[in-house]
Amino acid sequence: MLHFTSRFIDSTPGDPLSDTRSRQVHGALWSRVQPTPVSAPRLVALSPEMAKLLGLDEEALRSEAWVRVLSGNALEPGMVPYAANYGGHQFGQWAGQLGDGRAIGLGELRAPDGRLYELQLKGAGRTPYSRRADGRAVLRSSIREFLCSEAMHHLGVPTTRALSLVASGDAVVRDMFYDGHPQEEPGAIVCRVAPTFLRFGNFELCTSRGEVSLLKQLADYTLTHFFPELGPPSKEAYAAFFSEVARRTAKLIAHWQAVGFVHGVMNTDNMSILGLTIDYGPYGWVDDFDPDWTPNTTDAEHGRYRFGNQPAIGMWNIERLAVALMPLFEGDESVFQAGLLEYQRTLNTEMTARYAAKLGLSTLVDDADVERVNACLAWLAQEETDMTLFFRGLSRVVVAPTAPTVFPDVLREAFYGPVPEPHLARGLQWLTSWWERTRREGADPAELARRMDAVNPKYVLRNYLAQEAIDAAHEGDDSKVHLLLDVMRRPFDEQPGRETYAARRPDWARSKPGCSALSCSS
Ligand code: AMP
Ligand code: MG
Repeated sequence: MLHFTSRFIDSTPGDPLSDTRSRQVHGALWSRVQPTPVSAPRLVALSPEMAKLLGLDEEALRSEAWVRVLSGNALEPGMVPYAANYGGHQFGQWAGQLGDGRAIGLGELRAPDGRLYELQLKGAGRTPYSRRADGRAVLRSSIREFLCSEAMHHLGVPTTRALSLVASGDAVVRDMFYDGHPQEEPGAIVCRVAPTFLRFGNFELCTSRGEVSLLKQLADYTLTHFFPELGPPSKEAYAAFFSEVARRTAKLIAHWQAVGFVHGVMNTDNMSILGLTIDYGPYGWVDDFDPDWTPNTTDAEHGRYRFGNQPAIGMWNIERLAVALMPLFEGDESVFQAGLLEYQRTLNTEMTARYAAKLGLSTLVDDADVERVNACLAWLAQEETDMTLFFRGLSRVVVAPTAPTVFPDVLREAFYGPVPEPHLARGLQWLTSWWERTRREGADPAELARRMDAVNPKYVLRNYLAQEAIDAAHEGDDSKVHLLLDVMRRPFDEQPGRETYAARRPDWARSKPGCSALSCSS
């Protein structure tokens, strides 16, 4: 018998009303809601690791009874569905109340590891926070969220997880390109899992409304349940909490930078208080290493959330969180400064450590090493070069008995087109110097290669791969979703026979919607 709890609902103030009409909800951190049933739920995919972690039997999850729960058509005993109230800064502007407009928390389940995990349905229907939208999600964006949450997890990047993907059997109308051509698309529901889905925006909303006592209750709830190591609530504990969120956020973003993940919508309502990757929307993976690239068409003009700008935006968002938490710091500005410093310090250390490891170096020992990393990144950005293939290929170069004297074929594969000779010559020069530097690591080159292969993934969820799986699913074939999920379970392993999933983005996908450009419409 499963036992669901709802600590958030039990211990923090909620909305006394239960009608789902769009409205401003004051003095409350959540609203009770009910998922809106769908007409013909069908399980499209499950994450076996997530089921296991939760102690749920895969076969049982495939049963009609569970699929009803995973689609919002039924509740398990003890589930208390709710939508959280939060605000946020969107594209640099305060947007006021946002809230869970289509995500519905079901309750927390105690897993065999002793921890509590919250289950949440995304796309389960309208809530008081839906504004003018329908509370639903389309299959294409649900496939993307499902696959990417699990792919990120297997890469070791902190993230919310996905247990299941259910097709609803109902159509959802979306104007995918925002060009006045709305179309019906299949709807779907993802069951997401995380210790908590609280965001920076939950804290911001309280402070923006001067609801300081509510802010304090939210902070105390968060501290008590998710940061118990910081001690009972006090000014010092709030300060430590802020620094810890800053540290986790910096760590997270350094990790994104190291694997080539671009979130696409780093609004403060999409920033997890636990430092998890959250809300997979128009995200993308850089194919060619281009710091200016953003997958999000809504952001194409200003590129606020472009690949190379994510670290700076993380800092901007941490500042917004600081402003939100300020009432708890009792006017002590030094807390604010300490947190920002923590962010910068962690970002530097983490970026350095991750890029050193990508190059097979245990640490960057001097300025020459720092310059080595910078030169590599600058060179990569000059000509269209696949980030994943380039770094993965380096482990083949490191095991060569001598420094390269010609540009290695394994790295030529990373280029998207012909490259000028001088660029190759500069690349070779860099490689030679790097190869010589690796000999000072005092480790067997084969061991260096193993270490590099353990941090430079072979398989990432390339945008076009996800799009191919979506196109097939739209034709009724879910097998590509299953196959991709399976490939992404072992991103660092050679998987004989599956090399095509590690290949460069094909030319046809260069500017195809879904493969290089995504809208927020989901
Ligand atoms: P996002 O940009 O997806 O993080 O969403 C921003 C806000 O819009 C959040 O409050 C979402 O809950 C809400 N939202 C997005 N899509 C929908 C939808 N289809 N129905 C209701 N609310 C939505
Ligand atoms: Mg969001």
